[in-house]
Amino acid sequence: MLSENVFYLACYSAAFLISFTCLIYTLLQKRTDKLQNKVYIMMLVIVTLNTVSVSMSALVKPYLAESSACRLLSHIGYYTYFLFHTALCPTFFLYVECVAGVRHTRMRCFLSSLIFIVTEIAVILNPFFHWVYYYDTNYVFTRNWAENGIYIAAAIYFILAMARLLFSWKAVNAKRRFALLYFFVIVLVGVGIQFINIKIKAELFAEALALMGVMLAVEAEDDLVNVDTGFYNRKALKMDVNGYIVNNIEFEIICIKVTNVDIIQKVTGSVNVDILAEILSDYFQTIVPRYYIYQTNPETFVMTLMDKGTEDGETVARRISERFDKAWDCGMVDIMLNAVVMYVKVPSELNNTMDLFYMADGVAPSDDGGKVLTGKDLEYIIRRGEIENAIIRGIEQNSFEVYYQPTYHLDGLKIYGAEALIRLNDSVMGMLYPDEFIPVAEHVGMVSAIDDFVLKQVCAFLESGIPRKCGMNCINVNLSVVECLQPGFVKHICKIVEGYKIEKSWIDFEITESVAASDYAMLSEVVKSLKSYGFKFAMDDYGTGYSNMQSIFSIDFDVVKIDKSILWGAGKNQLGKIILGNSVRMIRQMGKKILVEGVETQEQVDMLRELYVDYLQGYYFSKPIPKNDFIEYLVSG
Ligand code: C2E
Ligand code: CA
Ligand code: CA
Repeated sequence: MLSENVFYLACYSAAFLISFTCLIYTLLQKRTDKLQNKVYIMMLVIVTLNTVSVSMSALVKPYLAESSACRLLSHIGYYTYFLFHTALCPTFFLYVECVAGVRHTRMRCFLSSLIFIVTEIAVILNPFFHWVYYYDTNYVFTRNWAENGIYIAAAIYFILAMARLLFSWKAVNAKRRFALLYFFVIVLVGVGIQFINIKIKAELFAEALALMGVMLAVEAEDDLVNVDTGFYNRKALKMDVNGYIVNNIEFEIICIKVTNVDIIQKVTGSVNVDILAEILSDYFQTIVPRYYIYQTNPETFVMTLMDKGTEDGETVARRISERFDKAWDCGMVDIMLNAVVMYVKVPSELNNTMDLFYMADGVAPSDDGGKVLTGKDLEYIIRRGEIENAIIRGIEQNSFEVYYQPTYHLDGLKIYGAEALIRLNDSVMGMLYPDEFIPVAEHVGMVSAIDDFVLKQVCAFLESGIPRKCGMNCINVNLSVVECLQPGFVKHICKIVEGYKIEKSWIDFEITESVAASDYAMLSEVVKSLKSYGFKFAMDDYGTGYSNMQSIFSIDFDVVKIDKSILWGAGKNQLGKIILGNSVRMIRQMGKKILVEGVETQEQVDMLRELYVDYLQGYYFSKPIPKNDFIEYLVSG
C-alpha cells in the first residue's frame, strides 16, 4: 500500500515540478499582460494546484481509518482537485480561441461556459449530495455518476478546442499549430493510460508536459519581439493581423512613420536606432496596451485598435499626429520629430497583410502638412506595392519594352537622335509609365535590372545599323543616379556595351540634375571615367532641382536638357521667358550643347529658334513609340 502511494507521489511530484517551473518562468519573463497569457497562467495554476491536491490525498490515504484529521485532509484534497480540474478543458478551449485570434463577446463567453458551470455546480455541491464522489464505509474513495458527466464535459471542450484549431488553421502559424496538436495528443495519451490502468497516474503528468510544450512554442515570443525595444515585430504583426482577418474581426490600424529619425543622431550623437522607440514608448502605451504596438522598421510603428473604446480610431490618429507638433523628451534635450500618421479600417479598407506592409514600408509622402492619411490617400501607397509586384512580374515575364522618342536639330529640323524610354506592359495592371515605376524600382533596388535591359536593347538597336542609316547621331539612355554611385558601375556598363559591335560615342547617358549635394564629387568621377571610354553625357531635367550651380557644372556634361516645365513657363508670362532666356545663355556660355524638352507647338519651335538652342524633343515631332513604329517613322519621315 505504501509503496504504491510512493509511486503516485513520484508521478504527482514530477507533474508539479514541471508545471510549477513553467509558472515561475512565465512570471519571471513577465508574459502576463495579454488575455492569452492570463489564460495560459490559469492552466498552469490549475495543474499545479491539482498536483498539490492529489499529493495530499495520496499522503494521507494509509491513515484514513485511524485519523479524522487525515480524513479531513483527504476530503480537502479531492474536493479542490475536482473544483479546479473541471476548469482545465474549458480553459484550454479558451486558450485555443485566444491563440486563433477569436474575440469574445459576453454572450459567446456565457454560452461556451454553460456546460462548465453545470459541472462546477455539481462539484461545489458534492459535500451535500455526493454526485461526483464519496467515501464508502471503509473510507475508500468511490466515484459517482456525475464524474462521468465531468469527463463528458471535458471531452466536449476538448473537441471544441480541436474544432476551433481546425477552423482557424490559417490564422495560426505552423509552430503554434504543432504545439497545440502536441497538447491534444499528449493529454489524450495521458488520460488513455490512466484509463486503462488507474494505478498509473499519467494524466496530470501529461498535462504538465503538454503545457511546457505550449510554453516553449506558443508563449515564448523571442522571435516575435524586438529584444532591444520590447515592441512586437513584423512577424508578430503579420501573424496577429492575419488571425483577425481570418476570423472576420473588425478593427483599425494606425501606422506612424517618423520621417526625420536622423535628427536623433544629430542631436544626441548616438547611432543607436532604438532611442526612437524609447522616446515614443511611454506615449504609445497611453494609447493602446503594449501588446498592440508593433515596430515594423526602426522608424515605423503600427498599432492595432482592437477593443472599441468611446473614441473612434480616426480621432485617435489625429491626436497622435498632433502630439508630433510638440517636442519629445530625449534625455538631455528636447527634439521635434516629424511623422506621417496613417489610419485604416480592417477589413473594409485593407484586407490582407501584404497591403499592410506596403503601407508600413512604403515611402511616406514627403509633406503631408500634419494631416492623417486615411482610406483614399492610402490607395496610392498600396498601389506602390502593386507596382513593386508588377516590376517583379515584368522582369520574369519579359514585359518591359523600350520606346523611342526622336530628337531633332533645331537647325533645319533634321533628325539628331532619340531618347530610349522604358514602358512596362503589365499583364495585370496594364501599361505602366516610368514616372510611376522607376521611383518604386529605385526604392526596392530593382532599377539596375531595368536600366541594364534598356541599355542592352539600345545596343542591339545600334548594332543593327538602322539608326546610322536613318541619319541619327546618338541614342540617349537614362541612368538612375542611385545606380551610378554603386561601386563597379563603370566597369559594369563597359562590359555590357563591349558585348556589341558598336561605338561608345553613340550612347549619350542622361542623369538628372537633382542629386544629393554630397554626391557631386563621386558622380563627377563616374562621368569623367565613362567619358574617357568614349560615352557622351547629358544633364537631364535642368531647372527642376534646387542644386548648386557650381556643383552641377563641375560635372563635364556634353549636353544640358532643359526641362519641359521651363519651356512651358516661358509660354505663360514674362518671368518665365526671362528664366528660359537666361538659362539658355548661361549654358551656352559654359560651352555646352542645349536640348529643350517638351516641345509641343510651332510657336515653341519659333521661340526656341530665336534663342539659338541646339536640339529639340517633344510631341511636336513624335511621342515615344515602340521600336518598330519608330523605324517606320524614320523611314517614312
Ligand atoms: P525624362 O528623362 O525627362 O523623359 C522625358 C519625359 O517627357 C518622357 O516621359 C516623355 O514621354 C515626356 N515627353 C517628351 N516630350 C514631351 C512633350 O512634348 N510633352 C509632354 N507632355 N511630355 C513629353 P516618360 O517616358 O513617361 O518618362 C518619364 C521619366 O522616366 C523620364 O523622364 C526619365 O526620368 C524616366 N525614365 C524613362 N526611361 C527610363 C529608363 O530606362 N531608366 C531610368 N532610370 N529612368 C527612365
Ligand atoms: Ca531623360
Ligand atoms: Ca527630362
